[in-house]
Amino acid sequence: MDCSLLKEFLDNEGIVYHENEPMSAHTTFKIGGPADLFVQPASENALSKIVSFCNEREIPFHIIGNGSNLLVSDLGVDGAVIHVGALSDYSVGGVNEITCGSGLRLSLLCSYALENGLTGLEFAWGIPGFVGGAVYMNAGAYDSEISNVITECRCITADGKFETLTLDKMKLGYRTSIFKEKKNRVITSAKFQLYPGDPETIRSRMDELMLRRKSKQPLEYPSAGSTFKRPTGNFAGTLIEMCGLKGFTIGGAQVSEKHAGFVINVGNATASDVKRVIEAVAEKVFLETSVKLEPEVEFIGR
Ligand SMILES: Cc1cc2nc3c(=O)[nH]c(=O)nc-3n(C[C@H](O)[C@H](O)[C@H](O)COP(=O)(O)OP(=O)(O)OC[C@H]3O[C@@H](n4cnc5c(N)ncnc54)[C@H](O)[C@@H]3O)c2cc1C
Repeated sequence: MDCSLLKEFLDNEGIVYHENEPMSAHTTFKIGGPADLFVQPASENALSKIVSFCNEREIPFHIIGNGSNLLVSDLGVDGAVIHVGALSDYSVGGVNEITCGSGLRLSLLCSYALENGLTGLEFAWGIPGFVGGAVYMNAGAYDSEISNVITECRCITADGKFETLTLDKMKLGYRTSIFKEKKNRVITSAKFQLYPGDPETIRSRMDELMLRRKSKQPLEYPSAGSTFKRPTGNFAGTLIEMCGLKGFTIGGAQVSEKHAGFVINVGNATASDVKRVIEAVAEKVFLETSVKLEPEVEFIGR
């Protein structure tokens, strides 16, 4: 689409952007066609200006963190993809609190917690997202999730204003949040309440969980993690395996042999290959088990 107005605005504001940026370079699936504009604001003020500019003029935009829960269309994305990676500052304060930007990698947040002898975030070690994406998804693993540690977050509303939401206002549930439900806020930072812990115990829990990931998950291939949400009272991977779909392949997309809950990119997969695998798997699982699998991975683009 014609992005000349937005380009002029970004030039005037001195905000960095790239045209026709391949999204395959910004997703853990290594899939995705070009974004009209890939924008990298250096501060939350710059980000708020872009948000209000785009909303006022109805220019479509998508926020992206580490792209680890995204499947981007082969045809690319209209408008702006805004990367929040520069919002990566963090500070320790209050009583065992860490506040950090939404562009901080979860792995770094976990390391900072460890360095400061703070426990509570070990579950997130190995989730390859940024803090904003983790809050949006209420990311979780190994019996814990973001909702157990976050106390508030700061975000930008549709008109570019700043707002602080406390935990009860974030509506965090299983892989969902108010941010995902309404899609009208951009998270800029988050505050986590942790507890004093013994660094050796924290470190060994992180190591243990990483080992479990490595042994069970196909981390050697590009993917977006668990493809489907966990259906109530069941596991997507188990159902998929029961339906004989391990190794099921279309083009370069395959149901992992190691963990049937993951669709992996075994070589030059397109988004269309992945979509077709997802649809075929959901259809067969429904036919054979009557369980409706819902994708956890989000689709964006043309
Ligand atoms: C190998 C692997 C293992 C994984 N393991 C787990 C796991 O154990 N548990 C788990 O929950 N997930 C897991 N995931 C999925 C993924 O890492 C998480 O969902 C993560 O929280 C996504 O963060 P992200 O920064 O990559 O978000 P992205 O994929 O970039 O974005 C996801 C969504 O969040 C929105 N978003 C991102 N940042 C913001 C922001 N600042 N403000 C508003 N909206 C925003 C985006 O618009 C998009 O809709 C795994 C993925 C992989 C590849």
